[in-house]
Amino acid sequence: MKPQPAVPFDVLGVGFGPSNLATAIAIAENNKRLRPACSYCFIEKQEQFIWHRDMLLPDSDMQISFIKDLVTLRDPTSPFTFVNYLHEKGRLEAFINRKSFFPSRIEFNDYLRWVAVRFEDGCHYGVEALSIEPETSTDGVVRSLVVRARAEGGGEVVRRTHDLVLAVGGAPHVPPAFATLGADARVFHSSRYLRAITEPELASRAGLHVAVVGAGQSAAEIALDLHGRFADAKIDMLFRGVALKPADDTPFVNEIFNPEFTDFVFAQPEERRREIIGQFRETNYAVIDADLLGRIYEIVYQQRVRGDARLRLQGRIKIANAVASRDGVHMTILDAAGDEPVSRQYDAVVLATGYERDIRHPLLAPLAGYLEDFEVERDYRLRTRPDFRPRIHVQGLSEDTHGLSDTLLSVLAIRSQEIALSLVEAKRRRLSEAASEQESMAQAG
Ligand SMILES: Cc1cc2nc3c(=O)[nH]c(=O)nc-3n(C[C@H](O)[C@H](O)[C@H](O)COP(=O)(O)OP(=O)(O)OC[C@H]3O[C@@H](n4cnc5c(N)ncnc54)[C@H](O)[C@@H]3O)c2cc1C
Repeated sequence: MKPQPAVPFDVLGVGFGPSNLATAIAIAENNKRLRPACSYCFIEKQEQFIWHRDMLLPDSDMQISFIKDLVTLRDPTSPFTFVNYLHEKGRLEAFINRKSFFPSRIEFNDYLRWVAVRFEDGCHYGVEALSIEPETSTDGVVRSLVVRARAEGGGEVVRRTHDLVLAVGGAPHVPPAFATLGADARVFHSSRYLRAITEPELASRAGLHVAVVGAGQSAAEIALDLHGRFADAKIDMLFRGVALKPADDTPFVNEIFNPEFTDFVFAQPEERRREIIGQFRETNYAVIDADLLGRIYEIVYQQRVRGDARLRLQGRIKIANAVASRDGVHMTILDAAGDEPVSRQYDAVVLATGYERDIRHPLLAPLAGYLEDFEVERDYRLRTRPDFRPRIHVQGLSEDTHGLSDTLLSVLAIRSQEIALSLVEAKRRRLSEAASEQESMAQAG
C-alpha cells in the first residue's frame, strides 16, 4: 500500500460495494468538469471487489434491469455503462439476442469488477474500518475525522478525511433461536452460503439433510441450489408464512423504484412514510421471483408424481429452539395450529433470514454526540451540530426516510451524484472559509 499523506482526504468512503463504486464514478466524473476537484480514497474489507460473493450461485439472475447500472440513469454516455462493458467484452450482440433485461448475477458481478478495476488506485482493499472519530481543532470545532482500520495481517491503518460516505451494506440477521450457534460451521447465514456448503465436511457427506430457514429470494435460490448440487440431499424450507409468495415487479408498482419517488417518500410525515413502505414491502421482502416460484412448484409436483419428497416446504412454523450436538443440529419447531412441538435433526441449517440495517451504525458511535439524533437529510447527509463540519453521507441505511429503493441498486446512479455534488459544495465551503481566515490573519498582521 502506498504511504498515505498526513493531510486529510476530501472524501473517504467506507465500504466499496456497488453504492460506493457508484460514488467513486460520480466523484471522478465531476472532477473532470466541476471545480474544486475532490481527493478521495475508499477502504474495503474484502481483499478484492466482489459482490455478495457467497451468493454468486450458478443459476441466479439479477432482479433489476441492466439499464439500472451504476451510471445510465444519470448519464447514458458514461464509459461505465453496462452496455459499454458488454461492448468491450465483445458480447453486446449476444446479450441482445438473449432478449432479457436481466443478466445473471455472475455477469453483473463481472461488470462491477470491470468498473472497480478502473478505480483500483482509489481503493484500499483488505482494510476494515473499526471506528470513525472526530478531530477537534483548538477552537473546539470538529473539521475532520480519523478513521481507524485494521489491515490484512492485523496492522493498524489510520486515514484522515474532511467528509465521509458510509456504505457498508447490511449485517446478517440471525434469529434469536440460533444466536448461540454462531461458531458452529453447520449453522450459517445465506451471506456465507457458498463458502460454507463447499467445506469438505458438508460437501462430501452422503444424504445431507439441510434446513433452509426463510421464504425470500435467497431462501428459494439456496433450496434450488442444494437440490441441484447434491443429488441425494433432503432439503426442508421452513418459514413462518402460509405460502411462498411472488415478488411484485409489475410496471406500476415498479415506479416506486424511480428516483423521483425518493422525493415523494422523503417529503411525507414519518407515519405516512411507514405506511407507504409497508404497502410495498412485497416488492422486496420475503418474496420470490415468479419464475423461481414456478420452478420450485414443478419440482414439488414431480416429487408427488414419483412419490418422493426430497424438497419439502413447511410454512406456518416457528423455530423455538436450536441446539447443536456431535450428530447434528436439533431444532424444536412449533406450528401455527398449536400442535405439540416437533423435534428435527439436520446436518446443516442455512439462515436465509435477511439483513439488519441500522442508521445508528456502530462505526458512527464515537460521533453520536455531534449528530442530531441520526436524522438524515434528503441528500443522505446526517444532520449534525454547527460545531461539527464534516459531512457524513450514508447509503443503504435510510430506507425509513428514503423508501424501499435505498437498499437496492435502483437509484445508485442518481444517489451517488446527489452525494458527490454535496461533497463538492462542502469543499467549496471549506476553501472559502480558509480564504476568509487567511484574509483576516493578513489584516491582523
Ligand atoms: C444475494 C443478493 C442479491 C441481490 N440482488 C439484487 C438485485 O438483483 N437487484 C437489486 O437492486 N438489489 C439486489 N440486492 C440488494 C443489495 O443490497 C444491493 O444489490 C447492493 O449490494 C447494495 O450495495 P452496497 O454497496 O450498499 O452494499 P454491499 O453490496 O453490501 O457492499 C458493502 C461493502 O462494504 C464492505 N464493508 C462492510 N463493512 C466494512 C468495514 N467496516 N470496513 C470496510 N469495508 C466494509 C463490505 O465488504 C462490502 O463490500 C441483492 C442482495 C443480495 C444479498
